[in-house]
Amino acid sequence: MEIDLGVAQRAGGIDMAINDQAEKIGQIAFGGSPRARAAISQCVKCEKQVTHEQFTDALSIKEYGISGLCQSCQDEIFGV
Ligand SMILES: [Zn+2]
Repeated sequence: MEIDLGVAQRAGGIDMAINDQAEKIGQIAFGGSPRARAAISQCVKCEKQVTHEQFTDALSIKEYGISGLCQSCQDEIFGV
């Protein structure tokens, strides 16, 4: 099977542009620490990489947006 590299590269380029934009918006919206760290998807407490998949519900994602805590740190702090 042949892969059209041109399409893959273009798709990657768009993806990068969106990520870039998201990062800029994050920096503008969140400003200083700990919220600045949240914009680069890193937990403010354990400093591990944060992914959307690890959150158990929308509320936890919202909480991450506020506190910058990953799911396991939220569980630890809020005693879930
Ligand atoms: Zn954490």
